[in-house]
Amino acid sequence: MLPTKGYATHAAHEPLKPFSFERREPGAMDVQIEILFCGVCHSDLHIARNEWDGTTYPCVPGHEIVGRVTKVGRNVKKFKEGDLAAVGCMVDSDRVCENCQADLEQFCEKLILTYNSKDPHTGNMTYGGYSNSIVVDQDFVLRVSDKLDPAAAAPLLCAGITTYSPLRKWKVGKGQRVGVVGLGGLGHMALKFASAFGADVTLFTTSPGKSDDAKRLGASEVVISKDEDAMEKQQKRFDFIIDTVSAPHDLNAYLALLKRDGALVVVGIPPQGIPINLFHLVLPRRQLAGSLIGGIAETQEMLDFCADRGITCDIELISIDKINEAYERMLKSDVKYRFVIDMASL
Ligand code: NAP
Ligand code: ZN
Repeated sequence: MLPTKGYATHAAHEPLKPFSFERREPGAMDVQIEILFCGVCHSDLHIARNEWDGTTYPCVPGHEIVGRVTKVGRNVKKFKEGDLAAVGCMVDSDRVCENCQADLEQFCEKLILTYNSKDPHTGNMTYGGYSNSIVVDQDFVLRVSDKLDPAAAAPLLCAGITTYSPLRKWKVGKGQRVGVVGLGGLGHMALKFASAFGADVTLFTTSPGKSDDAKRLGASEVVISKDEDAMEKQQKRFDFIIDTVSAPHDLNAYLALLKRDGALVVVGIPPQGIPINLFHLVLPRRQLAGSLIGGIAETQEMLDFCADRGITCDIELISIDKINEAYERMLKSDVKYRFVIDMASL
């Protein structure tokens, strides 16, 4: 077994603190990675604090991982020692179900998440990227171009793919008016991708101070969502809206902004339910949908697209002892626009 250092939380209301554990020795198909950087996703906070229920402690969060390959199993063809490599939210699936066959492993019923899943190799839970190394089957390891800054590429593994995938699925592009709700980790990547795909993008935010950044990140217009008059003016203008908000808020206000056949796709997952007025859906035949990260093939496609276009995330690099402070700032919407942990600080 491989002795590993990380940060874990031991109960919903406890801060994260140093934690030692063991990972498996790499098997024939496995890649061992020294973790250089790990992004801090709001899902880490939801899970560390058991806001979605189902957290098993100790919990080592982290699913936006970039590092260097330090060892490969004898049947590994895709990677060699020294390669830059990445791991996102998933580390294995059954490979044979309808979802896996369709390159949609994220919907596999036997999906093994990077952390807080039962680990068939060790009998413990899986432990995530707030740690100095990880061992993952090569099929769930992604290639990262040396052209990208590895720290700023790390959040692509969740914030990136979670926004890229629905924009592709709903064929967002030129001639379309797109709304992005919430300017945090996911929201800032939604602005970058939607504008890179050629759409005319409007940001809806509760934070007036983020307006200039939103324009730099690709928005042509910024609407302060608490301003009812400003919201009224946006009614029935949008083809597509992606909602990235982590806390309860009024989705009906955004449904009302869609044209006929427009789609509101929710990726943010506030733990509490949100009531929907069905008239907003039925009368102008609007769609309300959700989306979950993206499959491995699409994640690789997104990373390659980013390398091609020079797209990375806007990050604030932190040492790991600042993680609890980072969670508190995330709750105040005070992130520009993703915290990334420099694992050398561990
Ligand atoms: P984040 O960086 O904390 O950003 C969330 C943003 O939501 C904030 O910056 C803020 O933007 C807005 N917001 C926060 N509280 C609000 C409130 N009470 N009312 C209205 N707006 C509010 O979080 P993130 O990492 O981007 O994650 C966002 C959500 O997506 C989380 O729930 C996370 O669990 C979920 N997620 C889902 C998937 C998936 O596959 N579906 C993947 C990753 C994450 P403004 O300041 O601009 O208003
Ligand atoms: Zn995430």
